Amino acid sequence: TLSASSRTTSEWQQLDHAHQVHPFTDQKALHGRGVRVITGAQGVYIWDSEGNRFLDGMAGLWCVNVGYGRKELTQAVQRQMEELPYYNNFFQTANVSQIELARMLAELTPNGLRHFIYSSSGSEANDTVVRLVRHYWATLGKPTKRVFIGRTLAYHGSTLAAVSLGGMPNMRGMDRVPLPEFEHIIHPHAYWQGEGVTKESYGLKAARALEEKILELGADNVAAFIGEPAQGAGGVFEAPAGYWAEIQRICKKHDVLLVADEVICGFGRTGQWFGSHTYDIAPDLMSMAKGLSSGYLPISAVAMTDRIFDVIAGGGPIAHGYTYSGHPTACAVAIANLNIMKRERIVDHVRETASPYFFQKLQELAQRHPLIGEVRGVGLMAAVQLVRDKQKRIPFDAKQEPAIKCREACLSEGLIVRAVGEAVVLSPPLIITRDEIDELIGKLSAGLDQAA
Ligand code: PLP
Repeated sequence: TLSASSRTTSEWQQLDHAHQVHPFTDQKALHGRGVRVITGAQGVYIWDSEGNRFLDGMAGLWCVNVGYGRKELTQAVQRQMEELPYYNNFFQTANVSQIELARMLAELTPNGLRHFIYSSSGSEANDTVVRLVRHYWATLGKPTKRVFIGRTLAYHGSTLAAVSLGGMPNMRGMDRVPLPEFEHIIHPHAYWQGEGVTKESYGLKAARALEEKILELGADNVAAFIGEPAQGAGGVFEAPAGYWAEIQRICKKHDVLLVADEVICGFGRTGQWFGSHTYDIAPDLMSMAKGLSSGYLPISAVAMTDRIFDVIAGGGPIAHGYTYSGHPTACAVAIANLNIMKRERIVDHVRETASPYFFQKLQELAQRHPLIGEVRGVGLMAAVQLVRDKQKRIPFDAKQEPAIKCREACLSEGLIVRAVGEAVVLSPPLIITRDEIDELIGKLSAGLDQAA
C-alpha cells in the first residue's frame, strides 16, 4: 500500500501543487507554504507527515462524530465490500444495508419522517430536496409554488441548487449565483444589533421576516423554507428561544413546506439526535449527511413524512437519483456508526457531560480574554467571536484577519480550529472527554494570546 514515508513531505507538496486543485483554498497562497500532509488519526487526534499531533477541534469537517480509528467501522466496510461492494437501488432492486439503515433512521428521526432517499453528500441531498419539493407541488396541481426561502449566512452546499439555497456572500459571489427562484431572509443573530436588543426579540424579528417575504412573493409562489436548526458554516448561530416556533407558525399559515438541513446538526451535534429535537421543529423534509457515517464514507439522505411521500409516490416515476444513491458499503458503515452512537450513548454524553463543560470553559475564557466579544453555539458546535473593543462591540477591520491569525497560532499549539470571518469556530468529535476539552481550551487560549 501507499505510504506517506515513500516520499519526503516536500516531494508530496510539490506533487500536490502540480496536480491537485483544492476546494475552498487560495491556490496561490497554498503554493507559497505547501499543503500539510495528514497521515493518520486516532480518537480526537490527527497526525501530519512531519510527526506533529493535532487535536482536531473540527472533527474533520464537522463530521467525525465517533472519532477516528474505529475498527468496527473498518470491519463493516470490509464485510460489505466482500459480500456486495456495489449495487444500485434503481429499477426495483434494493440491498439489505439500504433497507436496514432506512429502518434505523425511521426510529431516530422526529415528526414521522419515515421515508428516505439516499445520496452521497449534503449538497446532493439538498439538490434532491429542491427537485422533490417542486415535484410535490406540481403533482398537487400547484406548479407555481417553486421559490425556496433560505437565510443569510446559511450554508447548504456547493452544487448549483445547494449554493443557491445558501446565503454566504463568498459562495454566491464566485460564479455569481443564484439561480432564479431562491430568496433569502435575515438570520437570527442579535450580537451586532447592539446591547439593548435581546436574542429573543431579534429572533422573532428574524422569523417574521419570513412572513414578510412570503407576502412579498405571494404564498402561491413559495415552495419551502429551508434552515439549519443551528447555523454552522456561516459562523455558528444557535436559534434563539421562540424562533423556530414562529417560523413553523408562519409556514403552516401560508402552506409553505419546512425543510431542516441537519447535515451538521444531525446525529448528536446539538446534544439530541437531531437539531429538530433540540429546537422542537417538525419538518416536512430533512437533509442529513456528515455524522450519518461519521465521515468514514460519503453518504447522505433526505427524509420525508407520509404527507410528502404519498404525493410524490402518486406522481409517477421519480426522475431523480445518483449512481451511488444508497451505496451498500456506505450504508453498512452508517449502520455500524449508528450502533456505536447508541451503544456508547454518545448523544447523552454530549448533552449531559461534554457540552455543558465545553461551554463553561469557553465562557470562562471569554470572561478573561479581551479579544472575545461573544461565545455562541449549542451542543458541541461553538463560535468564539473576536472583537476589537469588547465593551463597545466594535468589530475588527476584516483586513486584520484576527481569526486567521488565531487559527495559525492554534495550529502551532497543536489544535485545529476554523476561522469564519472574525470568529473562531469549533466542532470537536462528540466523544471528546473533559480532559481533552481542557487540552483544547488551553491550546485555544494560548493561540488567542499569540494572535492578540
Ligand atoms: N448543509 C450543511 C448544513 C452543511 O454544513 C454542509 C457542509 O458543510 C452541506 C449542506 C453540504 O454538504 P457536502 O459538503 O457533503 O456537500
